[in-house]
Amino acid sequence: MSADTFHVVVVGAGASGTLAAARLLDAAADAGLRTVVDLVDPAPTTGRGLAYATPDPRHLLNVPAGRMSALPDTGDDFVRWLSGREGRRVDPGEYVPRTLFGSYLADALDRSAAACHGIGVLRRRHDRVVAIDRLTRTGHRLAGDTDVGVRLRLRTGGTLDADAAVLALGNLAPGTAWLPAGLADSPGFVADPWRPGALADVPADRDVLLVGTGLTMCDMARTLARPGRTVHAVSRHGLLPQAHARGAPTAPADTTRHPPPVPEPHDLARLKRRIRHRAAFYRRLYGDWRPAIDELRPDIPLLWQQLSVPDRDRFLTAELREWEVHRHRLPPATDRALTAARRAGLLTVQAAEVVAAQRNNDSREVAVRLSDGRSVTVGAVLNCTGTESRVKELTDPLVRNLLGSGVATPGPHGLGFDTTPEGRLMSAAGHDAAPVWTLGQLRRGNLWETTAIAEIRAQARELASRILESAVTPTLV
Ligand SMILES: Cc1cc2nc3c(=O)[nH]c(=O)nc-3n(C[C@H](O)[C@H](O)[C@H](O)COP(=O)(O)OP(=O)(O)OC[C@H]3O[C@@H](n4cnc5c(N)ncnc54)[C@H](O)[C@@H]3O)c2cc1C
Repeated sequence: MSADTFHVVVVGAGASGTLAAARLLDAAADAGLRTVVDLVDPAPTTGRGLAYATPDPRHLLNVPAGRMSALPDTGDDFVRWLSGREGRRVDPGEYVPRTLFGSYLADALDRSAAACHGIGVLRRRHDRVVAIDRLTRTGHRLAGDTDVGVRLRLRTGGTLDADAAVLALGNLAPGTAWLPAGLADSPGFVADPWRPGALADVPADRDVLLVGTGLTMCDMARTLARPGRTVHAVSRHGLLPQAHARGAPTAPADTTRHPPPVPEPHDLARLKRRIRHRAAFYRRLYGDWRPAIDELRPDIPLLWQQLSVPDRDRFLTAELREWEVHRHRLPPATDRALTAARRAGLLTVQAAEVVAAQRNNDSREVAVRLSDGRSVTVGAVLNCTGTESRVKELTDPLVRNLLGSGVATPGPHGLGFDTTPEGRLMSAAGHDAAPVWTLGQLRRGNLWETTAIAEIRAQARELASRILESAVTPTLV
């Protein structure tokens, strides 16, 4: 921290952290404010995080390229970048490999850094933040003291003092509540299939079991299904994500032509009725229910906040999976490949839970008993259940530190951290005390719809302008 330079540390260099850093640099340039942005992540790459690190070209974006711009207002930025790189006119309706999007984000950040002309400086640090302490004017925490910044402790032992911090921790560990005894420490168990190199030890000639039937499972099945191996996929409901409509997306045009009623549902029953009604309406008009889900998207935070606590609980326990399979859809090519794999008997999808598992120390195989009475013997079990959003369940040192010190407190329903509408952390005492902001997955409890690029890029811009505002209005920090 120095008197003439504003200093922000962004924790996490996945999509959220990269977009936050880019928007902070843009905002610094606009304000003419000398700013240093430290972007901290142990990962060797920038912009990839969990979703865009996969090198497998069969792992596609589940959103058409035309809707994946890094900037809220420049819808075709990604398509233009991609067309330049590929040397062809990329169609905005294409579903392209996710690895390309990771490269684009890194490039978008470089462009913002270059456009700053030295007013904003980007520093990339390969480290992990393990704790954040509040800094006060006196150096001690006294009643009535105002925070003037934060001190971030790094895994390698150093510290960074900053005027503000942004938590872009994204997809934390996958949930493990379903794990039977003995499976977690089995060599055949893959706790996080997105960890680089996670599939390296999956035996090529053995069947595999994928637990979870969402988008992660679909990608893993595409990678692993092959003649001579059966991929078994199970989840409590056995529901697969629906596919996107083939051809150009219809939703934006349709919704402007048929504006949905102002979001009047205040309870879950009314909300479900309205979705069914709108789905029937769009089906009659276009033979497609999907716009009924897509048109809700900008209003989801409001609809979520309006629901009563028991209704939100009901949604989380009884309706979640049904919602997810309609909201988070498969690219058509992935859908076709999975259908073909199922027809060929290379992939099975069942509604079942894992009841017990026993490892065979000689063969390294795992015998898994399922709740539908079947048993499968597999070379690997992959945890495809998706990331854990209930922060109290997480063992991540930084999350534990923030909850333990009261700098952060769980969001509604224990999901993510509680934040102000601008994304600043609420402390356990109920104030936005520390100059720490967050975006993406960690805002789940407040907003529900917060993990896709459309939401993340808007949040990145909002928090960047708030943080820079706080720099020129010093009473805020
Ligand atoms: C498989 C998958 C596919 C998706 N596809 C799409 C899509 O096509 N379109 C779309 O709009 N959305 C998609 N999403 C949703 C969204 O874009 C992604 O979730 C995206 O990964 C969010 O980025 P993130 O930076 O918040 O999180 P992450 O990608 O999880 O990145 C978080 C980063 O923070 C780092 N980190 C964590 N803790 C610390 C710490 N203490 N110190 C330093 N660094 C830390 C991690 O190392 C990681 O690099 C997808 C999500 C997944 C999981």
